[in-house]
Amino acid sequence: MDFDFEFEPLEPAPTRTEEECDKEIWQPRWKCFCCQDTGKIQPLLVQRVIPKYNYDRDRLPVCQVCSKGRDWLHLKDEGIIDTRISFDTCRKLDIMAREEWKRTTLQWFEVAQKRVEEGTTEIAQKQNLRSRSRTQAEVALAQHKHSLARGDWEEIKEEEEIEDELRE
Ligand SMILES: [Zn+2]
Repeated sequence: MDFDFEFEPLEPAPTRTEEECDKEIWQPRWKCFCCQDTGKIQPLLVQRVIPKYNYDRDRLPVCQVCSKGRDWLHLKDEGIIDTRISFDTCRKLDIMAREEWKRTTLQWFEVAQKRVEEGTTEIAQKQNLRSRSRTQAEVALAQHKHSLARGDWEEIKEEEEIEDELRE
């Protein structure tokens, strides 16, 4: 039995446009840069406010700039969270982290672009080398063919001459 069915091809139906996919690379999946939507202020940012902050030892400073911090407030009485970092400070930390993100992605983009450029040059150089060696090989082959052809021609000519001689 032959199960090689043929289907009328359909166009792909993407959930997102290509533009949206490109944008995603440069935009993080979180909205709040202070806590990255976890409600806990990012440890590196906490250290800007509490220089001796120890993530393993100290209470977790909660984000006050977005609503995610509220998820931790029920632990306030347990002595697990730290609510001393204010809304204003959180907002400043958010701005700082945003700038840092922009700078990092820009650097990353520049590095990636440089790599692409270098890669392209390298490929071009390799192709040049390849075409150059191919050209040399082709010249050699052509010379070889030419000498063969010349030989053939002479042989044929000789045969023709012989035939002519026979006809005469
Ligand atoms: Zn937040």
